[in-house]
This record gives sequence, structure tokens and C-alpha cells, in this order.
Amino acid sequence: MVAVAQLVEPWIVIPVVVGSSPISHPNLFLILRCEILFINSKNIKIMQDKELERYSRHILLPEIEFEGQKKLLQSHCLIVGAGGLGSPVAIYLAASGVGKITICDFDSVDLSNLQRQIIHEEKSIGLNKAESAKITLNRINSNINVIPIKKQLNIEEVKSIAEGVDVIVDCSDNFETRYALNEIAFDLKRPLISGAAIKFDGQVSIFDFRTNNSPCYNCLFPRNDEEQNLRCSDHGVFSPLVGLVGSIQAGEVIKVLLDIGTTLHGKLLLVNHRDIDFKNLKIQKNKHCEICS
Ligand SMILES: [Zn+2]
Repeated sequence: MVAVAQLVEPWIVIPVVVGSSPISHPNLFLILRCEILFINSKNIKIMQDKELERYSRHILLPEIEFEGQKKLLQSHCLIVGAGGLGSPVAIYLAASGVGKITICDFDSVDLSNLQRQIIHEEKSIGLNKAESAKITLNRINSNINVIPIKKQLNIEEVKSIAEGVDVIVDCSDNFETRYALNEIAFDLKRPLISGAAIKFDGQVSIFDFRTNNSPCYNCLFPRNDEEQNLRCSDHGVFSPLVGLVGSIQAGEVIKVLLDIGTTLHGKLLLVNHRDIDFKNLKIQKNKHCEICS
């Protein structure tokens, strides 16, 4: 016990608290200390003690632990869109310690965005959204690398960026971008976490192209030139809905990165926030899909 205490001493910074209540279990702090000692012996320079404290509630989860948190810190996520969905996605991934986040948006912050795009604030009005997002994210977590992409990209430029990432998150508000990201993710075999929200209705899907025979976005919604592009500016959107959908997307990103639990891969989650109705549908791969078949 003494030896453990001596060795552990320089590293002990984690208060053992769950929620807002201190835990009374006498062994938990020791268990945590021993785990940190074990971690330190193998990974002495990988995570500093401040990081161990910051991410301690993740490290305590058996599904994540130290190795999972280390993997998050080494992960790179591409978020397309810094609006209603991109806001919660980026905030949760930054807070969770995803080490590198590339966020794209060529638009600038408008007063009418602030009702739901919680990554931006009044003094961000007029700023580019990706730049505004970077400021907020680095205010939340100054140890992660946030790369804002402020211009409108062509497909080749997005593809070039996507080649270097582990996961792509579609937080866009138009079909053109959705179909383009679907093709890019399919070509590069990257998981695509897709979300959408309009009025009181939201949806989330994962197309995990790391696996064979994954359906794609085009299987689910075959491209149609006459499609109606519903936008918030025309139809309105319930503010907390984008928080709900974006939070689910962020959770699915972490689960995909760490291979945790059951994801929405090959499924379509439909959410109606007005009546609190959740439906989970299975997506079939379209044998005639022009993208993935
Ligand atoms: Zn397809």
C-alpha cells in the first residue's frame, strides 16, 4: 500500500465524484489510483494528469477506459456544417476529447441562427461559422486541434480532406452536400454519420463503409432531380430538436470510433419531437443503387 501511494502520489489529481455527489465507497479512489498507476507505467507521456482528470468520467466507463480515451485523443473527425446539428456534434466531440476536428462552413453567423446554433453567440454575428465554431471549441477544450474550413469546397477538395479523417459527420442542410458526402465516404470507406432536422422531425443514420455491403444514403433516398430541398429558413425548426439529433450523432461518432455497443449502422432513427415518438427502421441495401452496388 505504501509503495503504491509513493508511486502514485505525483499523479493523483482525480476527485472521485459521480454526478454531483461524492462517492462514499472507500475502495473506489484506490481502484482509480491503481488504474492510473497501471496507465502511467505503460503510457507515461501519452496523457498528462490534467487530461486524466478532464476525461476521468470516460475513463471510468468500462466501454472506454484509458485506451478508448487515448484513441479519441488520436482521432480526427470531419464535421460538415457548423449550424444547428454541427453545433452539438462539435461541442460534444470537443468536450469528449476528439483530438482533431475539421469543421467546414462557408456561411457566416446571422442573428436568426442563434435560436438553435448554440456554438455561436451574439458577438459572432458576421463571423464565418467555421471560425466562430473554432473559437467556441477551443474555449471549451484548448488541448484539441480545430481546423476551420471557411470556403465552399468542391468535391475533390472535400475528398482530399476526408482522406485524412476517421469519420465523416454530415450536419449539412442540403441534399447536394448529402449526396456528395455519401459518395466520398463510400469511395474512401469511411463511416458516415448522417443527421437531419426540420420542423419537429429529425433523423439519424450511419453508413459504415468500413464493412462490406453497407447500404448508403442513396439506397435510402434515391437521388431525384425533382426532390424538394426542405430548409429551416423556409419551414422552421424546433430549437431543441437539433440538440437532440446532434447529440445522438456525436454519441454515434464516439461509439463508431471505439466500437461500442449497437450503433445506427444500417438503420434509420426517426424522431418526432412534438409528440416524442422514436422509430428505428432497418435500411435495405438497394441492389440497383448507382453509388454502392
Ligand atoms: Zn447505395
